[in-house]
Amino acid sequence: MKINWDELGFDYIKLPYRFIAHWKNGAWDSGQLTEDEYLPIHEGSTALHYGQQCFEGLKAYSRKDGKVNLFRADQNSARMNRSARRLLMPEVPEELFLGAIKQVVVANREFVPPYGTGGTLYIRPLLIGVGPNIGVHAAPEYIFTVFCMPVGAYFKGGLTPTNFIVSDYDRAAPNGTGAAKVGGNYAASLLPGEKAQERNFSDCIYLDPETHTKIEEVGSANFFGITKENEFVTPKSPSILPSITKYSLLHLAKERLGLEALEEDVPMDNLDRFKEAGACGTAAVISPIGGIQFGDDFHVFYSEKEVGPVTQQLYDELTGIQFGDKKAPAGWIITLA
Ligand SMILES: *Cc1c(COP(=O)(O)O)cnc(C)c1O
Repeated sequence: MKINWDELGFDYIKLPYRFIAHWKNGAWDSGQLTEDEYLPIHEGSTALHYGQQCFEGLKAYSRKDGKVNLFRADQNSARMNRSARRLLMPEVPEELFLGAIKQVVVANREFVPPYGTGGTLYIRPLLIGVGPNIGVHAAPEYIFTVFCMPVGAYFKGGLTPTNFIVSDYDRAAPNGTGAAKVGGNYAASLLPGEKAQERNFSDCIYLDPETHTKIEEVGSANFFGITKENEFVTPKSPSILPSITKYSLLHLAKERLGLEALEEDVPMDNLDRFKEAGACGTAAVISPIGGIQFGDDFHVFYSEKEVGPVTQQLYDELTGIQFGDKKAPAGWIITLA
């Protein structure tokens, strides 16, 4: 298989190897690499009927010296286990999780896009409830699998702002599963996302499900804004998915850019305080927000055409660390030979 690194998007590509482990009778087996991309599962699997499943998303980055970096994979492990606990699934021990990721990256090593192409190897860990069952309760068995594929840089010609529209739908309930990375949240977001795209917006903005007055999520990414007082602000709520990119930016904004870094409410009626805004997550890293449509109002932040300087600086700092060009805070990077 030959891959044109410059033409990569965010599409499924079958690579030779994936990892699979099984949980049965209260314990995980040690798991193994396999070449089979199909999962034969029981028709009664709770993942199919009741959405008992969760997933993660992280990337491997080629460095200038040819080695490969994993970025904060321990945080993905911890978050998958929080999601698992919320859905009454067995936790995946960190050693099994990280071991699976390393094995999959090493086995598919030739498909990690080279340094300088902007591409990365996207890694998808998945935990699903399987086995014979019909009642509404936790599954008798589980599968943990990790597969991966090369993906291109989200923005090829540099960071470009896009516009978003505030949705009437909620992606999560106040005490629901918004903070867990579970498929059900995504199934519920497909229709609102499509409606936003039909109106030529990139995606929708979800407000807090309790009062519908504050920004919570931007599609499937977290929101941040830069205030005129040079504060980095991101919303705080129990129904937001805690983005690892967001927590990394909070740290870098404070430690490297010297900004005040705050987690606090972001009311829709006070967007004027922001001179820049963006969405953040592993897939796109940072997506500058041009403007937000809210009812009949359209609020523009920095510009609909150009990325703001602070957003660009944050992007450069974070991607510099991920690709190994800048010094990483302790514990953020695992380098594979
Ligand atoms: C995964 C995800 C994010 C981004 O999290 P990262 O850890 O930064 O990739 C944001 N919002 C939702 C709803 C998500 O599922």
